[in-house]
Amino acid sequence: MLTAHKIALNPNNAQATYFARASGTARFAYNWALAEWQRQYEAWKADNSLPQPSQRALRRQLNALKRERYPWMLEVTKNAPQMAIMQLGDAFRNFWAGRAQYPRFRKKGVHDHFSLSNDQFSVKGSRIRIPNLGWVRMRESLRFTGRIMSATLSRVADQWFVGITVDTGDSPKRRAENQGATGVDVGVSALAALSTGEKVVGPKAHKALLQRQKRLSRSLSRQHQAAKVRLGIAANAPIPKGVRLPVSENAKKARAKLFRLHARIANIRQDALHKLTSDLTRRFHTIAIEDLNVRGMLKNPRLARAIADMSFFEFRRQLEYKAGRRGGRVIVADRWFPSSKTCSVCGTIPEKMPLAVRQWTCPDCGTLHDRDVNAARNLPALGLAAPSRATTSSVECDACGEEGSGVSQSGNVKPASTKQEISTKLPLRRFGQV
Ligand SMILES: [Zn+2]
Repeated sequence: MLTAHKIALNPNNAQATYFARASGTARFAYNWALAEWQRQYEAWKADNSLPQPSQRALRRQLNALKRERYPWMLEVTKNAPQMAIMQLGDAFRNFWAGRAQYPRFRKKGVHDHFSLSNDQFSVKGSRIRIPNLGWVRMRESLRFTGRIMSATLSRVADQWFVGITVDTGDSPKRRAENQGATGVDVGVSALAALSTGEKVVGPKAHKALLQRQKRLSRSLSRQHQAAKVRLGIAANAPIPKGVRLPVSENAKKARAKLFRLHARIANIRQDALHKLTSDLTRRFHTIAIEDLNVRGMLKNPRLARAIADMSFFEFRRQLEYKAGRRGGRVIVADRWFPSSKTCSVCGTIPEKMPLAVRQWTCPDCGTLHDRDVNAARNLPALGLAAPSRATTSSVECDACGEEGSGVSQSGNVKPASTKQEISTKLPLRRFGQV
């Protein structure tokens, strides 16, 4: 079983500079290979006697010309560009399999990262050895034992992390304490409601820090507009292609501040989710959840923030891998099932149920229902009829410092990259851009 542990790093200035440079090299290699892939593919379409593009060939091609054309690439480990191109191969494989979208170019400053294969680094206590760089301090030592598969170094705000993927072998955890089933309704008002009647109140991280976030992003966008006006572009007009806005030192500082705040909110949220999913999988063997159409719901602006706050995808991802480890199972109910408006006692479905209604009385049997708890109660029964899902996911981020480990294009771990892509997409998308 593959498990990823994400650990914060304490690099010195030289090391942080090296990380930034290695990420830049990885990004360059990835983008070079993607452009080249597209070019070679078009050429192949026109003339089928030409070879089709492949990551293996592209790695060879870049190796052959980098010394002459991109000598700065030699300043960092050669593993960084190599792994990036291998990741492009994975991205294409995921795309063909229908698991992911067509690969996109990487952007500077948006999830900067680079990866190392396991023969290129070593871990000793709370230190990691990076090629051409030496030992870098980690905030804690690796929590898992097993074969180390790969590492991805990534930056969130101004903090560097290393995500180490470990093959822990087949060592399932103890089975759930209570072998029973529960329904979980991930709600808008509470983090989750269980069919046992329990309600888990979320941290509402976003709400608590929202004011500050709003203020910061407003001041940032004002600076942005002012910069545009200084260049003679209307404040709300798009920036013409090829034009680069000058970024002041103050704007840089404000942006860094905002990113740190985003990261903090994400950490609080992630922490609450991990606690909830660990608790649920420890206590229940079968957990029924609803397959909410989160994408559709995000279009509803009033609900959007609350839903994003709850990170539903991430909740489901954690639940599935954690249940899988304990031999439990997660049942996903049909998204069209009206779970919150079906009476869990007699099965009556009242005609209308606006989202604002938090409590209702069944017109038939007179039971007073809490909206979320009632929805949760409907789920297990429904789940028993549904086929069980295989929940053995291949990579999980157990002890992430933050945000689903963010290794959305991580090297050797294909199924996970799609999974994590999904789970990080909602929050990261919002965070990646100011
Ligand atoms: Zn009823």
